[in-house]
Formats: sequence, structure tokens, C-alpha cells
Amino acid sequence: MADTLFTKIINREIPADIIHEDELSLAFKDINPQAPHHFLVIPKKSIATVNDIQEEDKALVGHLFMVAAKLATELGFAEEGYRTVMNCNQNGGQTVYHLHLHVLGGKPLGWPPYQEKLKTI
Ligand code: 5GP
Repeated sequence: MADTLFTKIINREIPADIIHEDELSLAFKDINPQAPHHFLVIPKKSIATVNDIQEEDKALVGHLFMVAAKLATELGFAEEGYRTVMNCNQNGGQTVYHLHLHVLGGKPLGWPPYQEKLKTI
């Protein structure tokens, strides 16, 4: 898989506001926040999309959620609640092809998250 800019953030080749690092994952603030708290939790392993998660990655993906909840707790918004999102491919709105878990919190979030009218298929 080709390197993405998230690989460059892991390798400290481009700067990011990193809030957590361990042997498996990195978390950093989103450059274009959509909520008062908006950070991304990514695996250090290069996995392009949700479609590319393998059997061997199950614990790793679970770890990303554990990190998300730990950071939400530490940052003080876990109890009031938050949203976790993994966008997949074009229709999911994915723009960076390195698996990442969005964590958004700090305000009530609307649902559904899209504005356009649903078209009947
Ligand atoms: P996606 O659209 O792929 O689900 O999410 C990619 C996210 O990465 C977007 O929310 C975008 O704002 C964020 N992002 C893109 N480039 C950078 C960057 O260079 N640094 C940081 N911290 N976030 C980025």
C-alpha cells in the first residue's frame, strides 16, 4: 500500500497535534475539526480501508476503540457522549486511505449526519 500523509504523521515527517501514542496506534487532532473535540485514532499498520481489515487485525481494530474511549474519558467528554466514525471509500466520504477512527464530541451531534434528501432507489 502506498504511503499516505498519515504514514508521514506516524513517522514525524509532517507535524500533527499528537495526543496519544502506543506500540499499535497513534491519535492526533483533526486538522479540520467538525466538533469541539475531533481527533483521529489510527493504527500504525497501514490498512487502507475498512474493506481491507483482515482476520489478524481484529484485536488491532478493537484497540483503536479502546484508545478512543480512554482519550474521551481523559478529555472529559466520555460520559456526555460522542461519536466514532470510520468512513469507507468514495460514498463513505473517505479522503485519506489509511484506516482512521474519527472521534467527535463536546456538543450534541445531529443524526442522521447528512443533509441531502434521500433518493428512492
Ligand atoms: P476521511 O474524510 O478520510 O474520513 O477523514 C480524513 C480526515 O483527516 C479529515 O477529517 C481531515 O480533516 C483530516 N486530515 C487531512 N489531512 C490532515 C493533516 O494533514 N493533519 C491532520 N491532523 N488531519 C488531517
